[in-house]
Amino acid sequence: MRQQPVLEKTVVNRIMAALRQFPGIVVRKRHGTAMGVAGDPDLYGSINGRHFEIEVKRPDDHSARLTPLQSQRLQEWRLHGKAIAGVAHSPEEALMILGLRQAEPLWTCAACMDYTWRGYDAPDRCPRCGHRHFNQEVGAC
Ligand SMILES: [Zn+2]
Repeated sequence: MRQQPVLEKTVVNRIMAALRQFPGIVVRKRHGTAMGVAGDPDLYGSINGRHFEIEVKRPDDHSARLTPLQSQRLQEWRLHGKAIAGVAHSPEEALMILGLRQAEPLWTCAACMDYTWRGYDAPDRCPRCGHRHFNQEVGAC
């Protein structure tokens, strides 16, 4: 585990770089300005003609939860806009949202139920509480 916190900006740039490797994708960063709609996701674009919206969050950051407004915006895009919309903490998750990569299992700490980890193997121990048992959910998001 890296000790230094990853900036959201860094995650945004990694995701954009990862998506640009694929044909049929245009991805743009949404800049938060007075012109924008509050709570709209950080990234938007098009994959093979389908609009997508991705809210980017830092990995393993307790405070980086979706605000109620942000989840409302994602719902709007998904339900009313028929867009692909999701939350990504990593390039891998962004690829999963867009269906470019198979979903890996999601592990949740069985003790604090607060720490989650996505990968084929469970983490050794929970960085939050030190517990060693993880519950697995497959294909959840
Ligand atoms: Zn825990």
